[in-house]
Amino acid sequence: MRPVRGNSQARLRVHSQAIWAGNAPGVSLRYWLNRLRVKLGAKRILVVDIDSTLYPFIPMFVVAAREAVGVDISPEPRTFHQPFDELTREQIQASLEYCNGEDFMDQHHIPFEGAAEALRDLAEKFEVRYYTDRPDRAFALTRRWLRKHGFPNPNRLYTCNGDKRAAVVALRGRAWGILDDKPYTTVWAHYEARIPHIFTIRNSTNWNLDDLPFVHLSDTWNELELELLKRLG
Ligand SMILES: [Mg+2]
Repeated sequence: MRPVRGNSQARLRVHSQAIWAGNAPGVSLRYWLNRLRVKLGAKRILVVDIDSTLYPFIPMFVVAAREAVGVDISPEPRTFHQPFDELTREQIQASLEYCNGEDFMDQHHIPFEGAAEALRDLAEKFEVRYYTDRPDRAFALTRRWLRKHGFPNPNRLYTCNGDKRAAVVALRGRAWGILDDKPYTTVWAHYEARIPHIFTIRNSTNWNLDDLPFVHLSDTWNELELELLKRLG
């Protein structure tokens, strides 16, 4: 938490906001309220990412960059940022807009085999929620896509405009697990959001997460579901 200068009223305001948001060391009202909700019978939450978790983002983005801006980017990037480093800011923007287009989404956002079935099973045990870094303007099409492919709970979709971390930390105390591919999100989910169980579908940018004991890497959704059920006990 950022040190606060200024009068005591301002300090009190910032500290109380941090406590409510769950960002303050020690007490977090939201954390205890979330724990209370679970005690009173609310389902625990399973946080589910979309890009590179429900469908393979990288091959799709390779096609989008080629069609939108005429650039051939690496089909097997070694870091999460590599595909974006190969494009200018304008080309990234144009490619992302292009890949969130309705026709393109229908044609190229093909879910991983078994993903929808596994989440439908898991929705009996958890409240499944989707947290994506996609922008708000992609909300309607993304929800339509979730519905079309039979994913459970499509109304529980949260578009986080580039960074989901602030939204997810509010679930501390109620989120049982997170399914996400990005290395920085998985590490943050463990240390900052204190989400106990972290699951990732392996791709060329996150294969080395297997040196983090709290991240469970799987090659397929069937493996991921088995791993998750094992942790659930
Ligand atoms: Mg992702």
